[in-house]
This record gives sequence, C-alpha cells and structure tokens, in this order.
Amino acid sequence: MAEVRDQLNRPLRDLRISLTDRCNFRCGYCMPKEIFGTPTHFMPREDAMTREEIVAVVRLMSQLGVHKIRLTGGEPLLRQDIAPLIADMAEVYGIDDIALTTNGSMLTLALAKGLKAAGLGRITVSLDSLDAERFGRINGVGVRPAKVLAAIDHAAEAGLGPVKINVVVKRGMNDQDIVPLAERFRFTGHIVRFIEFMDVGMSNRWSLEDVVPAAEILQTISQRWPLHPVEAAYYGEVASRYAYDDGAGEIGLIASVTQPFCGSCTRARLSADGRLLLCLFADHGVNLRDLLRQGVAADALLERVTQIWGARGDRYSELRDPRKSQPAKRLEMFQIGG
Ligand code: SF4
Repeated sequence: MAEVRDQLNRPLRDLRISLTDRCNFRCGYCMPKEIFGTPTHFMPREDAMTREEIVAVVRLMSQLGVHKIRLTGGEPLLRQDIAPLIADMAEVYGIDDIALTTNGSMLTLALAKGLKAAGLGRITVSLDSLDAERFGRINGVGVRPAKVLAAIDHAAEAGLGPVKINVVVKRGMNDQDIVPLAERFRFTGHIVRFIEFMDVGMSNRWSLEDVVPAAEILQTISQRWPLHPVEAAYYGEVASRYAYDDGAGEIGLIASVTQPFCGSCTRARLSADGRLLLCLFADHGVNLRDLLRQGVAADALLERVTQIWGARGDRYSELRDPRKSQPAKRLEMFQIGG
C-alpha cells in the first residue's frame, strides 16, 4: 500500500460512501420536505453505483491508505443489497473498519444481526430529540423516538455497540433536548455526539444565529454533570471527546463551525452516483463510476485518484466566512453522504 498525502500533508484514511440519495425521513436541516417533498429530486436508479462498482472503488482506495469505510446516504438501509455489499467490502485487503450511519427507523434486530454477520463493526444512529412531537416535526415524517430507541437496543443486542448517537443541535429546534439526551444515555455505554448545525448544501437556510456552539453545549451539560476532556482515539478523529467525572460514560462534540478540524481531515467521499468528493462542502468531483463504466484500467484509475488526492487543499470550515454570501452551487448533505 502506497500511502498518499494531500497539499496539507493529510493522509487518505477514510472513505464515506453514500449508498443512496433517497431517505424515508425529511429532516429540515438536510432534506426539507417543502423542497424535497416528492421523489422527483432523486437520481434515477440506474445512475446509482452498483455493488461491484462500489467494491471496485473500495479495493482501489485501500491501496492508497483507506482502511475505514462509513456507509451513509440518504438512508443507507434503503439499499436492498447492503448486507452482501458489506460482506464484499469486508473481504478487501486493508479494510479493517466498516461503520454505518442510519436514522434507525428500519433497523430491526434481524437486520442488525445480519449486518453484523456480514462484517459491519460499528453503527451510528441519529436521534435529535426524545420529545415525540418535536422529533416528529424535526424528521418531517412523524416518526417517534421510541422507534429509534428500539433500533439502538437492537444494534447493541446484535453486538454493534457501543452505539454512537448523533444529535444535530439547532437553536430553536432542539437546544432544549441537550440535557435530556445526555441524561438518557448516561451509564449505558452509548456515546451521544452533539453536532453543530452546518451550512451543508443549499436548502437548509443555515445561519450562524441558529448554531449552538460546542462550548455552550459542553457548558450546558457540565453544569449538571461535570466532564473532563479525553484524548483523541486516533489522528483525524472528528469528535472532541469528554468523559463524565462520575464515570457515567462519554459524550462527543462535533464543532465544524466554531472549532474546525480540517487540519487532520483524512476523509474522502463517494456520492451515490460515483463522484469522488474531497470535502463535505464540495460542489464537484471526478466521477469514478463513469470511468469504471468506460472500462478504464485499474492502474490508470489508481494513478488518477493518487493525483486527485495529492492535489487536494480543501479546508472549507477553516475558511468559512458566514458574512460572505453562500456559494452559488453546493451538493446537498444527502447527495454527499454527510
Ligand atoms: S470542511 Fe472539508 S476539509 Fe474540513 S474537515 Fe470538513 S470535510 Fe474535511
């Protein structure tokens, strides 16, 4: 394996793969239903990368240093062939960590066990509120927290724990849920990660006023239960980690707006239609699916991706200037895979 480094000397270690741009939720900060109400906005199915094409990209990227795969979407569990796809990826030499991010609404115990058996190692479930009415409003389709809490239990029972629980915090949307969510998962082993509301895509009407800074989230929780910082588990870890002084476990804070972490960003992204994206805030990328369908040889593709990563200089969050108007075009969160 020939490790590649970009213009900021960052290695390529992680590949986030969007398995589909479709979702059964309509979260306002990602896929607001007033804009994405009907399925017309989603790409034709034939445009989606096939299982073989995704595995070919994983095999290629593993030769350049990728060892961690995160499966995302839209909602990745909408993909029918997800278990055999995971099994194929688990066979790829160098890939030693396969994780999944889901809204949990489709995660039955049987499916969780099947994904584990296929080679899935870890799971992250999104849950933005424990209040049924509020959560139903946030996800845009009225799903209740109980469904997602059951999915977290299924994941744990299937051996996919400790589960990470992602909470996108937006002022006026769910900032009152910070303490109840922290409390709910104390002494469970699961890790709640509070995420600052980000200006991804063009549709979530982002503004700095709606961002609850990570420092404020930390203060809100530590006023109830004192916390202390914990060392990052590895280079490029996205969340800042804090442990409860009383031994109740950990939380994470993902502060892309107020404490950007571009300096150690080792992540590439593959959109559901095959674009290789070098940043969450990218607006374009070379389409590897097309190159595969044109029959481009593996070594030529390897050379191409090596050049692409080598030329990478992305650090959007460090350069973000909320006073400046938003760029004219940017891919949506569900097209990039978060
Ligand atoms: S903004 Fe882009 S470069 Fe910075 S951490 Fe996020 S994905 Fe990486």
